[in-house]
This record gives sequence, structure tokens and C-alpha cells, in this order.
Amino acid sequence: MTPEWTSAGIGVMGGTFDPIHLAHLVTAEAAVEQFGLEKVVFVPAREPPHKRGQVITPAEHRYNMVELAVRSNDRFEVSRAELDRDGPSYTVDTLEELRASYPSGTRLYFITGADAILEIDTWRHPERLFELCTFIAAERPGLSREAVREGLRELERRYGVSILRVDAPAMGISSTDIRRRARSGRSIRYLVPEAVEEYIRRHGLYRG
Ligand code: ATP
Ligand code: MG
Repeated sequence: MTPEWTSAGIGVMGGTFDPIHLAHLVTAEAAVEQFGLEKVVFVPAREPPHKRGQVITPAEHRYNMVELAVRSNDRFEVSRAELDRDGPSYTVDTLEELRASYPSGTRLYFITGADAILEIDTWRHPERLFELCTFIAAERPGLSREAVREGLRELERRYGVSILRVDAPAMGISSTDIRRRARSGRSIRYLVPEAVEEYIRRHGLYRG
């Protein structure tokens, strides 16, 4: 498939990854293919600002699960950028840091589900975010296509940018649902990579 975006770039996918699941991976893979990205860097958040007050799994476990999930893909890697930084994990700080670590001229593409990007006004320094990277948005079941299309168009107009749409299969998988299933002893097989499922079992995560 010919990439529809010529200048090679680096994809970045931020998240809590509690745990990482197949929809994260499918979305990243589709973005690599469609936009000819060199790689995708997965950045687990140490302290997600949007999830304050929620109980989340210790960051090292979440990092280890991402590491296991990306191991078999040459174009995927995991970054400790947010784990090694104190305080809330702001995407804008991460992108500044990543930008400084690559040759100048490298383009960054931040891959998000539609739910995340439509809340961008609540993120730290959204206008700077749009300068630092190009957003690639993925559909997410549960949100109406029309509402997403409208919402993205509105952001494009207000911030004077283009938001790319990745053509990935919409998958109704969420970490919340996976945690719920695991807590009640139900199967999470085929929702997460086998190695992640095994890690969750071995460490007794999400047992409630
Ligand atoms: P939680 O239910 O705990 O919020 P999650 O499944 O939403 O977990 P996150 O770690 O919050 O996963 O999300 C990281 C990024 O992946 C976000 O940009 C989110 O929109 C995106 N994402 C998560 N699940 C999907 C999905 N099923 N389809 C498309 N994008 C997704
Ligand atoms: Mg989420």
C-alpha cells in the first residue's frame, strides 16, 4: 500500500494502558501503514491528569505490559518519558521532550482515539500541542460518527490545523471493560496479547 503521507514521521501513542489491548495495537499498526510512519512510540502515563482520583495499576506493571505487547513488532517501541518524569504526565511535555531527542525536521504524529482528541481543550496547552505534532484520530465505537466528524471539523477550524483520520477497524475494546472482566473472573483472551494476559495472571492484576 502506498503511504498517503510522504514525509516519514514518528507516531506517538500516549495512554494509561491499564492494560494495553488489541485496539491500541491495531490502531497504531494502521497508522504506520496508512501514513508511512517509521515507528510508533507508546508512552505509558505515570500520572494521567484525566484520571486523578481513580485507582490505577502501578506504572511499572503498565510499562511492562506495553513492553511485552510491542516486542514482536519492529516498528513499535515503548518510552519511559512519562514514567521518569515527576508530577502529572502532560502530553505537551512529552512531545517537547521527544522532539528534542530526534533530528530536527522529524515530524511527530500523535495517534488518539476520537474520545481523547475531542477533549483536547481540557489538555495542557492545546495550541502548543497542535504546533508540536499532527494528530491522527481513530474512530471509537460508542461515539456517533457524525458527532466525531463534526467535532474534529470544529477543532480543525478553531486551531487552523488538519487532523488526519486513520482507517482502522473500529473495535469496541476498552481497558475499563477488560479490567471489569478480569475482576469478575471472566476471560480476557483475544482482547490483549497472550503475553499480556499471562503477565496479568502471573501478577494477579485486576483481581479486585
Ligand atoms: P480506559 O478504559 O482505562 O480509559 P482505554 O481503553 O480508553 O482505557 P487508554 O489507555 O485510556 O485506553 O487510551 C489510550 C489511547 O488509545 C487513547 O487515545 C484512546 O482514545 C485510544 N484507544 C483506546 N481504546 C481504543 C479503541 N478501542 N479504539 C480506538 N482508540 C482507542
Ligand atoms: Mg481511555
